[in-house]
Amino acid sequence: LLRVQGLRKAYGSNVVLNGLDLDVDPHQCIALIGASGSGKSTLLRCIDLLEVVDDGVIELAGDDVADPRVDADAVRARIGIVFQAYNLFPHLRVLDNITLSPRKVHGVSRDQAEDEAMALLRRVGLQDKAKAWPDELSGGQQQRVAVARALATKPVLMLLDEVTSALDPELVGEVLAMLRDLKDDGMTMLMATHEMSFARDVADQVVFLDGGQVCESGPPEQVFGDPREVRTQQFLRRVV
Ligand code: ATP
Ligand code: MG
Repeated sequence: LLRVQGLRKAYGSNVVLNGLDLDVDPHQCIALIGASGSGKSTLLRCIDLLEVVDDGVIELAGDDVADPRVDADAVRARIGIVFQAYNLFPHLRVLDNITLSPRKVHGVSRDQAEDEAMALLRRVGLQDKAKAWPDELSGGQQQRVAVARALATKPVLMLLDEVTSALDPELVGEVLAMLRDLKDDGMTMLMATHEMSFARDVADQVVFLDGGQVCESGPPEQVFGDPREVRTQQFLRRVV
């Protein structure tokens, strides 16, 4: 579904991604791990075309989306992205946060957009919060709405960047449970995470970034249980 090849991205002299290759199959859930500054967020931002890449190929369902001639909005409409925090539009109620993009970008009618938004809110367990303002919700509830909003455009791929790292510990579980449901529903997911135990439980594949490349990747049992690369071993010793 997603193929990244030879991706290069530098900020000035700081080469963050240096010929990175990554494949994501349909319905696969990939956990991206790596030290702070290893380029996890940069990679997700490149895939969502929020960054101009220096070199390389990013194919989404066979289309080269890194081609500058491509319509970035059309690509982004096929990708859902959720960041750490501050995802929601504070001046819009929960329901309007979710219906905004389907209505404005995809031309869906208000009635249909609201019906679909209510179904998404039920899916994340927040149907009673449709009329609430974002600041009336807990951080965990806000992140669940952010995921519902990202799903509203019916993306083929979800990019998740440390979606639990700004949350109080007692709120992390509800968001992880929702991500697990999403995976069980067959969503294709690429998620940068510091939650190693979650990555171990849920991901089909763990990808360790180091030195601007994929240093090691494999099933969680292998990467966490029997890492082959010295740099993976060092990283895991520091974080687990
Ligand atoms: P973390 O685990 O802390 O979220 P990360 O793996 O997501 O880290 P990135 O945010 O991708 O790391 O950052 C990779 C490198 O790119 C860092 O050295 C960072 O300073 C640099 N960088 C990121 N965004 C920019 C930017 N807009 N301008 C300049 N440098 C940037
Ligand atoms: Mg990051």
